Amino acid sequence: MEKILPTSTAGSMPKPSWLAEPEKLWSPWKLEGDALIEGKQDALLLALKEQQQAGIDIVSDGEQTRQHFVTTFIEHLNGVDFEKREVVKIRDRYDASVPTVVGAVSRSKPVFVEDAKFLRRHTTQPIKWALPGPMTMIDTLYDNHYKSREKLAWEFAKILNQEARELEAAGVDIIQFDEPAFNVFFDDMNDWGVAALERAIEGLQCETAVHICYGYGIKANTDWKKTLGSEWRQYEESFPKLKKSNIDIISLECHNSHVPIDLLELIRGKKVMVGAIDVASKTIETPEEVAATLRKALQFVDADKLYPCTNCGMAPLSRAVARAKLQALTAGAEIVRAEISI
Ligand SMILES: [Zn+2]
Repeated sequence: MEKILPTSTAGSMPKPSWLAEPEKLWSPWKLEGDALIEGKQDALLLALKEQQQAGIDIVSDGEQTRQHFVTTFIEHLNGVDFEKREVVKIRDRYDASVPTVVGAVSRSKPVFVEDAKFLRRHTTQPIKWALPGPMTMIDTLYDNHYKSREKLAWEFAKILNQEARELEAAGVDIIQFDEPAFNVFFDDMNDWGVAALERAIEGLQCETAVHICYGYGIKANTDWKKTLGSEWRQYEESFPKLKKSNIDIISLECHNSHVPIDLLELIRGKKVMVGAIDVASKTIETPEEVAATLRKALQFVDADKLYPCTNCGMAPLSRAVARAKLQALTAGAEIVRAEISI
């Protein structure tokens, strides 16, 4: 029988200090050329080992080969000029200097497929691979070509689908699309955002997931969270549409957030990756705290559909903190597993 409550992370893990400066987003690489390629692969193996030692069931590459979850993917595409930058408001929240779309976007070669094959060769455990979602991609760019968010998202969805099909062929079991933008642009999400996501998963046989969160524990995000009031009901906007969609799994933020847990009722029947680890805090959760979050979720998610997870990526944390948090996740899931099987 397959293990119930399989654990996983939202995606990213801290990088070793010899590869990039730790506890920092967009941290520049410390290596170059062949040494960088080798260093990224070594780091990927370390991230795998950390997850395995902590008892994580569905493992990932820890996003060790990418500088950032959105920009690294876009860097590999045609049609985007990284020299030509404009300041835009990302996620309607903070100003950032972003690259410009100057022509038709396309993918001339696979982006992460070799990395996925490399990970596949090193483990027989189920693998989850994260890609940026179409709507989050367009939110990190200045578009001077399509002049339409919807059109650009649609083009990215087609490109993501090409990549996803090859990741599936490389042996990836779950392909996850990160769409934090779904928590911000409700009208666009309902009009075309979910449709673009479904275009990205077209024809896939493997499982698919969408990760919607309130972001990494960086200041712009924690400041934004302070403005959201005592009840965070953003998921209420996306859940009805996602419930009807072909996406198999919904990954969301729960522990220490102000998301009313009963919103999960809106996606009853879907598989849910429940964030039981707060990535915006260095405090290590106790196994009992993790268990408490999972028990709350079990009121709305059947046990065979519940996947204990982290709220978001752990890239900005120290390795020691990330390691301890993963161990807590495993221990917390174990407590609830024992209760269920009684
Ligand atoms: Zn996230």
